[in-house]
Amino acid sequence: MTAPVLIVGAGIGGLALAQALTRQGVPVRVIENAAVLRPVGAGLILASNALRVLDRLGLGDAVRAAGHPLSGAQLTTDAGRPLQTLSYTASGGAVGLHRAALQRVLAQGLEGQLLLGTTLRALHPQRAGVEVTLSDGTVQRCRAVVGADGLHSSVRALLFGAVAPRYAGYTSWRFVVPRPGPAQATELWGRGCRLGLVPIGPDQTYGYLTVNAPEQPPRSRGRPEPWPKCWPTRRPSVARSPPYSRALCPAPRSSAPISMKFTSAAGARAASRCWATRRTP
Ligand SMILES: Cc1cc2nc3c(=O)[nH]c(=O)nc-3n(C[C@H](O)[C@H](O)[C@H](O)COP(=O)(O)OP(=O)(O)OC[C@H]3O[C@@H](n4cnc5c(N)ncnc54)[C@H](O)[C@@H]3O)c2cc1C
Repeated sequence: MTAPVLIVGAGIGGLALAQALTRQGVPVRVIENAAVLRPVGAGLILASNALRVLDRLGLGDAVRAAGHPLSGAQLTTDAGRPLQTLSYTASGGAVGLHRAALQRVLAQGLEGQLLLGTTLRALHPQRAGVEVTLSDGTVQRCRAVVGADGLHSSVRALLFGAVAPRYAGYTSWRFVVPRPGPAQATELWGRGCRLGLVPIGPDQTYGYLTVNAPEQPPRSRGRPEPWPKCWPTRRPSVARSPPYSRALCPAPRSSAPISMKFTSAAGARAASRCWATRRTP
């Protein structure tokens, strides 16, 4: 039997590669650290190049059905005044969807090849292939190993040693709210801060707030991240713009909390103070 290609990480890249190799008749094995594929992450915009690849994998229609079609995007000031409108239609359209929905589609048909709760402990390149030791103690031969285990890749660390990620100068808080937002992807540009709102379903909006800010030391999992200090001073003008207020503010005079799901505990508390309990101005 031909040795499989071992893919480490069942995220977007790992599963897409597994689908592509399987279609070429190359046996694959995908190992994933997480014991369960939980709906982690927030939203994504899949541009036409990604959709073309998914079409070639026969998964384009399923992905489009799992998300919201985007014909364009709008850039506005933080008060909602239009700055630029971009059309996606000439390039074939785009789709906004939850990362978990994309992961579900990409995992279809790979159940037999997916090993959850498992990681790579060691790898030894050989003349033909690679010998790997998995966290469950098994030692096996693979045709090749692909590190698709994300930003903090352990495969990269095994091969090249620890490489610290470089902070790019801004921090993003991401969230998904069960409310309709703008019809198209919209980015509101303030000074040193951007708010993006992307429809990812009929009643679901993905949002991200990106702020130029000094690097903060990483926090331990489960602890709330501080909401950006600049936000309270910038919130008012953004909050008056229609896409923001439609997606994120409760109905006027209502103080009913909106149920929000954040990608990390990041800002969940602070944001719920700002958004879930305030009234539309
Ligand atoms: C703020 C933000 C916004 C973005 N917006 C977009 C967008 O709009 N459109 C777009 O196309 N892309 C977007 N991206 C990029 C996109 O999210 C990434 O390119 C994509 O998720 C990377 O996929 P990946 O498979 O490499 O990693 P991931 O999706 O992170 O998957 C890595 C997988 O490996 C697993 N893993 C980790 N360590 C191990 C281990 N040691 N052993 C086994 N498994 C392990 C993880 O559990 C996970 O399942 C955005 C990224 C960010 C940060």
